Amino acid sequence: MAANVMEIYGSKVFNEHVMKERLPSATYQSLKATLHNGKPLDIEVANVVASVMKRWAIEQGATHYTHWFQPLTGITSEKHDGFVSPQGDGTAIMEFSGKELVKGEPDASSFPSGGLRATCEARGYTAWDPTSYAFIKDDVLCIPTAFCSYTGEALDKKTPLLRSMNALSVQACRILKLFGKDCEYVSTTVGPEQEYFLIKKEDYLARQDLILTGRTLFGAPSAKGQELEEHYFGTLRPCVSDFMKDLDNELWQLGIPAKTKHNEVAPCQHELAPIFDTTNVAIDHNLLTMEMMKKVAEKHGLVCLQHEKPFEGVNGSGKHNNWSMSTRHENLLDPGKTPMENLQFLVFLAAVIKAVDEYADLLRTSVATPGNDHRLGANEAPPAIISIFVGEELEAVIDAIASDSPYAGPVKMKMDLGVDVLPKFSKDTTDRNRTSPFAFTGNKFEFRMPGSAENLSDANTILNTAVAKELKGYADELESASDFRAAVIALVKRTIHDHRRVIFNGNGYSAEWEAEAEKRGLPNKKYTPAALPALIDAKNISLMEEFGVLTKTEMESRYEVEVEHYSKIINIEALTMLEMARKQLLPAVTEYMGTLAQTISAKKAVSATLSCKAETEALTHLAADADGMSEACEHLQQAVDAAKCMDEIAKAAFFHDSVIPAMDALRASADAAEVLCGEEYWPLPSYSQMLYYVE
Ligand code: ADP
Ligand code: MG
Repeated sequence: MAANVMEIYGSKVFNEHVMKERLPSATYQSLKATLHNGKPLDIEVANVVASVMKRWAIEQGATHYTHWFQPLTGITSEKHDGFVSPQGDGTAIMEFSGKELVKGEPDASSFPSGGLRATCEARGYTAWDPTSYAFIKDDVLCIPTAFCSYTGEALDKKTPLLRSMNALSVQACRILKLFGKDCEYVSTTVGPEQEYFLIKKEDYLARQDLILTGRTLFGAPSAKGQELEEHYFGTLRPCVSDFMKDLDNELWQLGIPAKTKHNEVAPCQHELAPIFDTTNVAIDHNLLTMEMMKKVAEKHGLVCLQHEKPFEGVNGSGKHNNWSMSTRHENLLDPGKTPMENLQFLVFLAAVIKAVDEYADLLRTSVATPGNDHRLGANEAPPAIISIFVGEELEAVIDAIASDSPYAGPVKMKMDLGVDVLPKFSKDTTDRNRTSPFAFTGNKFEFRMPGSAENLSDANTILNTAVAKELKGYADELESASDFRAAVIALVKRTIHDHRRVIFNGNGYSAEWEAEAEKRGLPNKKYTPAALPALIDAKNISLMEEFGVLTKTEMESRYEVEVEHYSKIINIEALTMLEMARKQLLPAVTEYMGTLAQTISAKKAVSATLSCKAETEALTHLAADADGMSEACEHLQQAVDAAKCMDEIAKAAFFHDSVIPAMDALRASADAAEVLCGEEYWPLPSYSQMLYYVE
């Protein structure tokens, strides 16, 4: 098997190994300059690459190519074009030019743009991101691309991400230069841990809510939930293990370094983590992983649920975004061994702390989705308040720096940054807090708020740009300092002093923290419509404009898309509930009530003294629940109708304030009815059936 892994790894990828082997050396050198140093690619080079790429793809069985991109829906899009080109004499050749490689022109009008592009000017174009390798999927050569309008506005998630990576690189290189290091590029790296559920396909197909919305909108809790804590890291079910092996196999062929797999906390919940990579590549890989998970599950008679909250009452799914910055030789968030390395580490650490504190509201928008609203602050995921966990050791160091007092850590030392060496932080002591939204884990930060279904581009775009902003301020200050070391120490001290409030090492799930955070003035936007306006806050727009990542217009359009998306999702959920309640659940309850009533009257006909207590009791409760459902349907329908004529901002608020409570009321009566209704009458697979299947 091991030899086989080495053989298949990356076999469907046009990677550097293939390029080096197949491209003329001059072409390869020129492409390498683009890959590693962000140099623009010229068309001559593109033509050669295209021709070699086409030949390679055809050898792999590809007949089509596609520009693979990430519109604002967050998921990936593709339109397949054949290589085939008829020759007029009845024959055909396979063609693919440099122009087709670097640029595509999909009809942009059917993708959300937030008013950026009216339908009449539908043209948008996709542009090759050569830093993310092309690959073969389903006999199609997929070329990772960015998607822009003809007037240059970004219509996708990748364009701003790439811009933010470059912005950070420029500023980080300035800082490194001050430390005597000449480097051309600083990459941001990401390792996304993907959580998901696997359920039986037959159960999935029996539930309209799962099919239309990805989550169960009804369902009484199972007698057994996750309280026994036996699933986390538990033995894999054979069918799950087979699925995972098959998935690894597919991912490895695509050059995706899938590394860790295990059961998660909730029943039927699992996780996959790859080895980290450059941010844009890691995100492309994460999106591909999500797609492959769904496809492979099908082959095993399973369905992969990637919604943040498929089941009430058990944990939902997140996607931890492990993040760092590094040169080709050095992880900049790795505390060093010498005082000077420590100092450099502290500068980058301080920049992250300042960035997260100053742009917490903006970072919060990146994880604001209707699905994720079920997780944040729900005692299974971090609260909606963004704080940073640095671990006890590092916090003690930070406090010592800020207060000029001796550091009293495990190794007693005076924190004179000019002389002393920071203690080497062991990963174990830094990684204990699982309730923090933004945790330092030894040599990287782990942003734990993103939901499982999200595209991580937004979070990383914001993080990179905010850190770039702080590094820029530092570089400006330090470049003009006469005593570099003294200036660095002063700057680190000042940052820590000013932004101490965002550091919190306690239990993020506790109510005390919410009160404490409010005292500290930290933002706490609990749900999506409340969080999103930070996208159009003047401070945040000016951040994005300063680094050329997004313009004001682009920010406004993204705000509009997200607000509309929220309402659309809740609307679909509400309509699905109405349909299921009216067409499936109420009829089921009515039928069962009929059986009970008939039984009662049949018993009475036999003998007036026969007890009908059990049937009457059940019938009484069910009649009340049925009335409750019917009334709740009425209210929900009214709420959904009322929302129709509202403007988008009012609508989103209304969906949160009025439609969701009406949905909750409907679910409460339906779940109560499910508890009493005869099993063969209830039309939906129950929670215990779905979550505790035996295989
Ligand atoms: P955990 O305790 O959270 O499971 P791991 O060490 O397994 O921690 O790492 C989780 C993820 O973090 C993996 O995807 C890993 O590749 C990634 N990771 C490790 N180092 C870095 C880094 N420097 N930058 C980004 N991600 C990283
Ligand atoms: Mg982790």
